[in-house]
Amino acid sequence: MPTFVYMASCDGCGECVDICPSDIMHIDPTTRRAFNIEPNFCWECYACVKACPQNAIDVRGYSDFAPLGHSVRVIRDEEKSTIAWKIIFRDGREKNFESPIRTTPWGSIKSPSDYDVPSQDAFKTQELAHEPETLNIDKLPALSPDQLKVGVV
Ligand code: SF4
Ligand code: SF4
Repeated sequence: MPTFVYMASCDGCGECVDICPSDIMHIDPTTRRAFNIEPNFCWECYACVKACPQNAIDVRGYSDFAPLGHSVRVIRDEEKSTIAWKIIFRDGREKNFESPIRTTPWGSIKSPSDYDVPSQDAFKTQELAHEPETLNIDKLPALSPDQLKVGVV
């Protein structure tokens, strides 16, 4: 179910543009509001829905899920750290879902640009950039040679 933007609610902050893995959320140069340039390429990850501070992004339901006359409203609640889905079917039935979207406060996760640039020596290790700090561990778990099975010789 691809996303679309309520232009009256969007303030053009660009959060959805930055977070979209499919690079399909763009800012219209004339209106300065976001829009989904290619709904067919939407991964339906809803990262943009969760990231939008204005709750300006919604989801267009597929016909098997929410036939004509339906509405699907997605609301991000920063205080409760939840995302709520309100689905109204065309016969008036309503379903509400609420799920937690994170376990840490908003703004508490460091951006990759806040970390020091990895050194050249870091390329020789098996750790990815900023590991193990970003995994909240002291070091990656590793097997010692005596834990490895001896193969048939
Ligand atoms: Fe991009 Fe995901 Fe939003 Fe689709 S749901 S527009 S892929 S961020
Ligand atoms: Fe508009 Fe929301 Fe995207 Fe910001 S994150 S540009 S308010 S749709």
